[in-house]
Amino acid sequence: MTLPVNTPEPAAAHASSIEDFKHNLASIRARIDAAARKVGRDPASIRLLPVSKTVPEDRLRLAVAAGMDFLGENKVQEAARKAENLADIPGLKFSVIGNLQTNKAKFVAKFADEFQALDNIRQAAALQRRLEAEDRQLDVFVQVNTSNEESKFGLPPAEVQEFVDQLPQFDRLHVKGLMTLALFSDDKEAVRACFVRLRELRDMLRESAPEGMEIEELSMGMSGDFELAIQEGATVVRVGQGIFGARALPDSHYWPGFAGEKPAAPNTAAQ
Ligand SMILES: *Cc1c(COP(=O)(O)O)cnc(C)c1O
Repeated sequence: MTLPVNTPEPAAAHASSIEDFKHNLASIRARIDAAARKVGRDPASIRLLPVSKTVPEDRLRLAVAAGMDFLGENKVQEAARKAENLADIPGLKFSVIGNLQTNKAKFVAKFADEFQALDNIRQAAALQRRLEAEDRQLDVFVQVNTSNEESKFGLPPAEVQEFVDQLPQFDRLHVKGLMTLALFSDDKEAVRACFVRLRELRDMLRESAPEGMEIEELSMGMSGDFELAIQEGATVVRVGQGIFGARALPDSHYWPGFAGEKPAAPNTAAQ
């Protein structure tokens, strides 16, 4: 069987020292820069968000020492725990990139600097209320389901315009752009189509978003497909396994309903 194009290379599995993390970070960054140059884009216009889900705090301290200062986490409670246990590190920021139940908005409002999975109005209202209580602001990305899979979170592309039109009332939320998870598939063109869909939607919203809202960012691409995403305009890539090594937990734990055939990388021992 052909592996899905999104399957990450297992090379990073043994990161367990500051040097290892520096090396992994530099090698992913070099691939990002090369992918950008290849399509005539400025590498500096692409942010690498290291995704640290399942990685315990002691290894995260090494990652931070290696230069990572903004970490992506899928689950709110795992993120909240890490933010608390690592609160002694000055300037460390967290981005929540996974689905959020409305009743957990209070956690995000307390510690997160960014939320990339906004996809319903009740959630926006809950975040606004909790952010007012904390007197904080939050950068947000609207999550879009570009793969048309029922299991995936995010709004169907056709509903995004109407959704963003309602967001100006939530003045604690700063809408930065759109986020998506591509199809898991060995069909590279099918994966690419997801990225293209997100970019075209962003281009449309550049013209038609509410006054004062600048929808510019495209958060798309992970360890196995970030180069393709960069070709199609990604401005944020979310890379976990390429930096931290293969995860022991199956992705279905993070993406309910995900029954993809993403095979475990051979060397999972470093977890
Ligand atoms: C885990 C995760 C990623 C990163 O996936 P890798 O294969 O580890 O690079 C990106 N986005 C989301 C929403 C995730 O949950």
